[in-house]
Amino acid sequence: MLNNKPLIYRGLNYPWGRDQVPESAEPEQVADGVWWARFPMPMSLDHINIWLLEDEAGWTVVDTCLDLPESRAVWESLFSGFLKNKPIHRVICTHMHPDHVGLAGWLVDRFNGELWISREEFLMCRALASDTGRQAPEVALRFYRAAGYDEQQLDTYREKFGNFGKAIYPLPDSIRRLVDGETIQINGRYWQVMVGSGHSPEHVCLYCPALKLLISGDQVLPKITSNVSVFPTEPQGDPLKEWLRSCARLREKLPDDLLVLPAHESPFYGLHVRLTQLIEAHERDLDQLYDHLDTPKRAVDCYPALFKRKIDAGMAGLATGEALAHLNCLLGRRRISRERDEHGVDWYLQKPETAEFD
Ligand SMILES: [Zn+2]
Repeated sequence: MLNNKPLIYRGLNYPWGRDQVPESAEPEQVADGVWWARFPMPMSLDHINIWLLEDEAGWTVVDTCLDLPESRAVWESLFSGFLKNKPIHRVICTHMHPDHVGLAGWLVDRFNGELWISREEFLMCRALASDTGRQAPEVALRFYRAAGYDEQQLDTYREKFGNFGKAIYPLPDSIRRLVDGETIQINGRYWQVMVGSGHSPEHVCLYCPALKLLISGDQVLPKITSNVSVFPTEPQGDPLKEWLRSCARLREKLPDDLLVLPAHESPFYGLHVRLTQLIEAHERDLDQLYDHLDTPKRAVDCYPALFKRKIDAGMAGLATGEALAHLNCLLGRRRISRERDEHGVDWYLQKPETAEFD
């Protein structure tokens, strides 16, 4: 059992502290009919929170963990234990990343249930999963060459290409689409769908006014800043603009006194403070990046302006995507310029600060 040892840290109030977590097979109650399960994951982000909502017919679960034998084993122990052999009739996925959708198809198959997900997350997931077994396309290699990858890094990209589909059980062929602004009913209570974008294309959060809860997925995390990246599928995209807009919109639309149930780390109060922190941190990064571009630089030369730690080979993909997201945002604001050299490499340079619009 979690004990109530609230902790206030950096403006956020954690009712169960930041270190107390449920044992994976023994969910903890966080509100009437809402339970918190924590599944381990074998990576630096070493867990995901899964929310279990009970009703008369059975269970609704929000997010599902990676398709790994260890995660299936946790689910198996939940089926016969905590879930009392009642069916999971509805699987909701906040977004299409493998730690969230990994076992959605498996759970739907097993209980003949339904997957509830936004359309863009569903389609993007199916598109990325279909890369498995294909070779890395030339356009993607050009994209990373332009960012400054050397031949060895391009080889690593080639080797890893298609890995997305390996971490997930195939999604079902049919879904119940979740739409921004609609309300759905779970166990007699209304939950409003709030969509955000930037970390993924059409990320769903669920807001329950009666319980004063927000299931926030990766859209609002208390400590981690969610990755916002540009990928070869959309080289000119500006996901950071969408992310900043989404954070501001959630702050405007949602009350501040909600218990936030994030997909990683611990539940907390302080939604508005956290959204403001996220916006300000990115704006600071954008300013630092602008200053860093006083001489021409490639995307891979921008890590020091954005990350405190050293970026090793394993993190290069995400770090480059994140650097490009900030660069594309500055390009969109017309604060920097980009030029491609004869080797196909892009160089970014600040424009002088002027009072006039160009
Ligand atoms: Zn995610």
